[in-house]
Amino acid sequence: MADQQALRHSRHALLDGIDDEGVAALQAARVLMIGAGGLGCPAALYLCASGIGSLHWFDGDRVDATNLARQTLFGPADIGQFKVVAGAAALKRNNPNTVVIAEPRFVDASLLDAAILLADVVLDCTDQWAIRQLINARCVAHQKPLVSAAAIEWSGQLLSIDPRRPEQACYACVFDPQTEPAAHACGAYGVLSPLVGVMGCLQAAEAIKLIVRSRHPGSSLPSAAQTLTLIDMKTSSWQQVRISQNPQCPVCQPGRTQAAAGRN
Ligand SMILES: [Zn+2]
Repeated sequence: MADQQALRHSRHALLDGIDDEGVAALQAARVLMIGAGGLGCPAALYLCASGIGSLHWFDGDRVDATNLARQTLFGPADIGQFKVVAGAAALKRNNPNTVVIAEPRFVDASLLDAAILLADVVLDCTDQWAIRQLINARCVAHQKPLVSAAAIEWSGQLLSIDPRRPEQACYACVFDPQTEPAAHACGAYGVLSPLVGVMGCLQAAEAIKLIVRSRHPGSSLPSAAQTLTLIDMKTSSWQQVRISQNPQCPVCQPGRTQAAAGRN
């Protein structure tokens, strides 16, 4: 079995910046993922295939027929099952060494707090504005790195934050919690199937780099400059926008938050 694991991870072990120490870091890593839809399926699959130690996975949704074009861990036989339960079975077929803790329920602040404390990195694979903001706020409060992504129609966005680095912008620095975008407030929109696959894979790649950098100090992986990655699949264009901390952010600037609370 040890030889099989060594063979599985041999291509990562050859990679500059990961090597054997990085493989060991991944095998010890605890990942928290919220959402088992179009983003969560590919992100979970690539993280498990890459040998992460454990995946704590929340989603209260069940598989339905509209999911199957994008949520590639599921097939017609899974319709009606909880996504994280069907997804955990699919992941186990790929890599039985990753411990998958499937939680078929939606998160709230107290569930998030308990789960984030146990995690090395958090992946937001949800599609709800309010829950994205809540996940960001709790990750900032607990100083845990977060990889957030979204996809709608032909467009995707990716943002990785690390609140352990005090100069870093958080999700709320970039997307004001008080200003929900129209696309989120309105009803159903289409989404291109491969787009969510690309975005979920990008989340997995960012999480792998965060884990290796955190647990393998000798890694040559550079700390990425903080950027918002924007992808337009209709034009096959990829844009990276440099972002910076918002001094008035209500989430990661507690001095202002406390001052505002004092005025109320
Ligand atoms: Zn912020």
